[in-house]
Amino acid sequence: MVLLAFWISRACVTRWFSASLTEGSGSNVSRVPVSLADLEPDALASCLEAWGFNGRHAGRILRAHYRTGAADSSAHRLPERLGDRLREAFPSPGLPVVRRQVATDGTVKLLLGLKDGRTVESVLMPDFRADRAAGCLSSQVGCAMGCDFCATARSGFDRDLAAGEIVEQFLALRREAAGAGRELKTVVFMGMGEPLLNLPAVLAAIGRIAGNHLGGLGWRQVTVSTVGIVPGMDALTESGLNVQLAVSLHAPDDVTRARLLPMGRRYRIEAILAAADRFQAARRHPVVIQYCLLRDVNDGIHHAESLGNLLRGRRMHLNLLPYHPTGPGLQGVPYRSSTAEAMALFAATVRRQGIVTHVRRSRGCDIDAACGQLRRQTAGPAEVAAPK
Ligand code: SF4
Repeated sequence: MVLLAFWISRACVTRWFSASLTEGSGSNVSRVPVSLADLEPDALASCLEAWGFNGRHAGRILRAHYRTGAADSSAHRLPERLGDRLREAFPSPGLPVVRRQVATDGTVKLLLGLKDGRTVESVLMPDFRADRAAGCLSSQVGCAMGCDFCATARSGFDRDLAAGEIVEQFLALRREAAGAGRELKTVVFMGMGEPLLNLPAVLAAIGRIAGNHLGGLGWRQVTVSTVGIVPGMDALTESGLNVQLAVSLHAPDDVTRARLLPMGRRYRIEAILAAADRFQAARRHPVVIQYCLLRDVNDGIHHAESLGNLLRGRRMHLNLLPYHPTGPGLQGVPYRSSTAEAMALFAATVRRQGIVTHVRRSRGCDIDAACGQLRRQTAGPAEVAAPK
């Protein structure tokens, strides 16, 4: 009987483990953690029933996990035997913090350890309102997009993250925010990886972060950011999830863009903006265009005028991002941030063309806040692959 119960327990965990592997559909996924964040309420209910407990405990267990991040839910008025069983099945209390950096502006960067020894970065950014914070989540370990100015690109692509690993980043940032007296109000998939190339896991994670009354964020508090993977943008539109979409354009013409973002050779700007138009028409809220200003590369007045021409009449919002230097790019170009004067002139030029434009502040300047920097610094040779 004991053996049978043990087998059922293992079978449940194995089934979720397999499900997690499917969500993180990248072929390089080898091991992913089995944590409560991997589970939908129905899956946990089935398992509780297989263990001989009432499946109705599932919602309470998961809500407690999302509130406190604890894998041990015995403190939440559950039968003691069930608490023991949960601790046995889910021994890991979230992803361990391998390294933590805090900037003078309050930005916190976490390097989180995954079950297979790899690491992933997540960032917490305090809002100007004292009680709020925003989080930046990774969707992959490394990235295959090869953007020339990005530190993550230099580490190459390793594997997709499973939905549970993405949710665990959210929970780690939520704990970090709570420790600073803030509430994690928004998250953006703008960390390591291209989220639209790991869409099943990203959608499943968003469903837990923003749906099912687990994570408690509203759909519009979640932003998916892409370099412009057109089929992925259309799939996100078709998913029906009412999230926000941000598109990293970074150049107003295909030639400059392809130099900065190799994916620009595959998907041209007009095709990307047409996919953004379709998303915007379906959701009825503006798509955000991200434009990172690089000195003497894409920050001239003629670039601003061309960008304005592209966006005029589209009702999209433009975010101008200061560049956070990360050393020479993949092609050896030492990118530099635009001067304050060039940024102001660029913003004024696009605004004159009627484009709603926000100039973003640089965050975490005194730490390795750019995506991929901390992992590159910390990782051993086995973890950081050669750039592709
Ligand atoms: S900027 Fe984003 S998409 Fe481009 S290489 Fe870096 S992580 Fe990947």
